[in-house]
Amino acid sequence: MAKVNENYLRLPGSYLFSRIGKKVEEYKADHPRADIIRLGIGDVTQPIAPEIIRALHGAVDEMGQADTFRGYAPDLGYEFLRSVIAEKDYRDRGCSVTADEVFVSDGAKCDCGNIQEIFGLDNRIAVCDPVYPVYVDSNVMAGRTGEYDPRTGKYQDVIYMPCGRENGFVPDFPKEAPDLIYLCFPNNPTGAVIKKDQLQGWVDYANAHDAVILYDAAYEAYISEEDVPHSIYECQGARGCAIEFRSFSKTAGFTGLRLGFTVIPKELETDGVRLWPLWARRHGTKYNGAPYIIQRAGEAVYSEVGRRQVREQIAYYMENARIILQGLSEAGFDVSGGKNAPYIWLKTPGSMTSWEFFDYLLEQANVVGTPGSGFGPNGEGYFRLTAFGSRENTIEAMKRISELGA
Ligand code: PLP
Repeated sequence: MAKVNENYLRLPGSYLFSRIGKKVEEYKADHPRADIIRLGIGDVTQPIAPEIIRALHGAVDEMGQADTFRGYAPDLGYEFLRSVIAEKDYRDRGCSVTADEVFVSDGAKCDCGNIQEIFGLDNRIAVCDPVYPVYVDSNVMAGRTGEYDPRTGKYQDVIYMPCGRENGFVPDFPKEAPDLIYLCFPNNPTGAVIKKDQLQGWVDYANAHDAVILYDAAYEAYISEEDVPHSIYECQGARGCAIEFRSFSKTAGFTGLRLGFTVIPKELETDGVRLWPLWARRHGTKYNGAPYIIQRAGEAVYSEVGRRQVREQIAYYMENARIILQGLSEAGFDVSGGKNAPYIWLKTPGSMTSWEFFDYLLEQANVVGTPGSGFGPNGEGYFRLTAFGSRENTIEAMKRISELGA
């Protein structure tokens, strides 16, 4: 008889956004005329920038000509994209990353979820709490997390590093030493960032404890303040302990096109084994490359015109973030984030739980956000709003929330 992977049975409930979707559908069924504004899921709403569309058209036309047609893409990505990434995202910022250390993929979610495959099952993982759920869930599926305790909302073998007001939403070093440390900055969901010296502290910690940092920089393009690192490779010694994930999704609106990449320095090794060849082997075995036309679209993001256009889009979303931050503060909410990230993190009023506040906001203001508890036990009592809506919806949502008050 075929057996299932029982680790999957340890995952509690359905995925956060399915539960939100279900609740909204139920509400709509009972209130068909409700004008619901969705500031919940972190998906972009602005159309793809014209320069990227131009590149897509060009690449599509190439596919229709015998002499420019392309079949399978190279597993690790086309050289034209890998080299422009290494140059513009890294060398121009003073980080030494070479084109062959860049692994192109169809997005950061897969890479963040799959990277754990190259590590042994006996590694102890540490995660920020709250954080993007994929890190924990992918380790649960692999069988690295132990049992789930519904009372605490925690897996027994995972080291949860609380991120709250008291530490500026940046984790303290854990008491127990982890082997794999997931860090995500700018953070989803809190919108918090880590300062250069704090990240340097983590790099030094990882090097001192022979740990590997899995650094998710999916939102680096939203950083506006000085002294906030865009890449972990800005820190001394990071090439010896860190893997970095990046995404075109929020940088350039590729949530539907799909493109991302992972950087693994050639010399990075653990337990005497280099990680670059393991990830190359995994990529080559389980992945057949991101589509040519999408990689050409990715290349266009780095052209002068493309870069200007995507920056304008980011500025649009960040103006939404400013409107949300200001609206909520004036309404008396305790808010953070929203300055270097498209996420605003607010404390739920009184003693409301995250899900109670979700229902309250849906019913009283017809605004959908994301309950903080869906990102980890320490997110309980918090709520996330995103800046990815249209300007009109963002302003209207703030008007409705302000009328309710904190
Ligand atoms: N990492 C973080 C922190 C995210 O919030 C997201 C998407 O929401 C991703 C990765 C996934 O990005 P992609 O669309 O490239 O798969």
